[in-house]
Amino acid sequence: TGGLVVVGASLAGLRAVETARLTGYAGAITLVGAEPHPPYDRPPLSKEFLDGPDEPPPPYLRTAASLRTELGVDSRLGAAATALDPDARTVTVGGTELRYDALVVATGAAARPLPGAAGLAGVHTLRGLDDARAIRAALVPGTRMVVVGAGFIGAELACAAGRRGIAATVVEAAPTPMGRAVGAELGPVLGAVLRRHGVDLRCGSGVTAVDGTDRVRAVRLADGTHLPADLVVAGIGAAPATEWLASSGLKLDDGVVCDETLSAGADGVYAAGDVVRWFNPAFGQTMRLENWTTAAEQASVAARNAVNPDAARPCATVPYFWSDWNGDRVQFVGLPEADETAFVQGGPDGDDFLALYRRGDRVIGALGLNQRRAVTRLRSAIARGAGWDETVATQRG
Ligand code: FAD
Repeated sequence: TGGLVVVGASLAGLRAVETARLTGYAGAITLVGAEPHPPYDRPPLSKEFLDGPDEPPPPYLRTAASLRTELGVDSRLGAAATALDPDARTVTVGGTELRYDALVVATGAAARPLPGAAGLAGVHTLRGLDDARAIRAALVPGTRMVVVGAGFIGAELACAAGRRGIAATVVEAAPTPMGRAVGAELGPVLGAVLRRHGVDLRCGSGVTAVDGTDRVRAVRLADGTHLPADLVVAGIGAAPATEWLASSGLKLDDGVVCDETLSAGADGVYAAGDVVRWFNPAFGQTMRLENWTTAAEQASVAARNAVNPDAARPCATVPYFWSDWNGDRVQFVGLPEADETAFVQGGPDGDDFLALYRRGDRVIGALGLNQRRAVTRLRSAIARGAGWDETVATQRG
């Protein structure tokens, strides 16, 4: 073999092989993916893919055939990589060793399982196509659904359940919903938006037990609440898929640790997507992100750098994600750790609003509800290092 090997055949892995070809790389490319499915898109899985009554086609990003015929990629799907030896420059897949000249690690993240619920039927996590199929099949009228975790996936799941006629209860251990993603100040504002969509959101009390012998029957909370349930979906975060790198000698710390060029520190080895923790020059700090746009951007930089390491460029990017709640679009750009937040359009109770986040004298983040154009502009403003006073004045217009 040799050439470029990409491990992980999802968004970042696919973007990496596409970019390598786009930039003129003519060597061999092998794409290794643990799942049997050709690359598909995850955002629809907690959104329109759950809408009934008939299962929609999977949101494939490319067919296996087009990987071969259009990109000349040898894809090995349904086969997990189990080890990496950076000195020998080999990846072990299905007991055989693949040699690489350049490697992009794009193994993403796996959903954290709900503690204490192993093996109970009716308890799910949502990360892949098979998970989404199982959840959509369980969204039948009369189902009592509890979503554990008021993050974005939990919020979207509860909205999707509502569209199927199921009033889901969302439970969150933290005092505020979506705090990790948008901060504790504006998390409650999004919580109120979610409640306006008919979701029963309960914060401040975590799950202490999941009752049931072979099937889930109820969820118990720390404050003593007993919630009967036939369907429980945990949206309590994801852990980077790095187990297969345990013996590789790569530095691992909640992700594959990389420098600003996404180099993992071994010759020819780069990483991209949800699996990478890298130094983001846009903010001068290391971070691991879990969102679509940054995964795609990182993959494009990692692939260019992997096939042309002498011209390696930094990957500077302003985080961005969106979430859809029954037609309401929530968007966040930047970082939520701020000294102050301020509404510049609308207010917390409106159908649309825009709020900015300040760190020092700069705008560092923005949260929008149904404010698509403004959020896109703010992503560029944050990338330029725009000042707070100036940005507040412009956005207030
Ligand atoms: P992944 O998509 O996780 O792909 C990694 C792939 O690597 C997987 O196919 C996995 O099976 C494979 N793999 C793992 N280990 C191995 C191994 N050892 N060998 C071979 N293959 C391996 N982001 C947004 O910005 N907006 C949204 O609205 C949004 N909605 C989402 C909804 C859901 C339900 C989910 C799960 C995610 C959502 N995201 C959203 C996040 C976005 O989908 C991810 O950031 C993106 O998928 C990351 O891409 P990735 O390729 O890095 O990782």
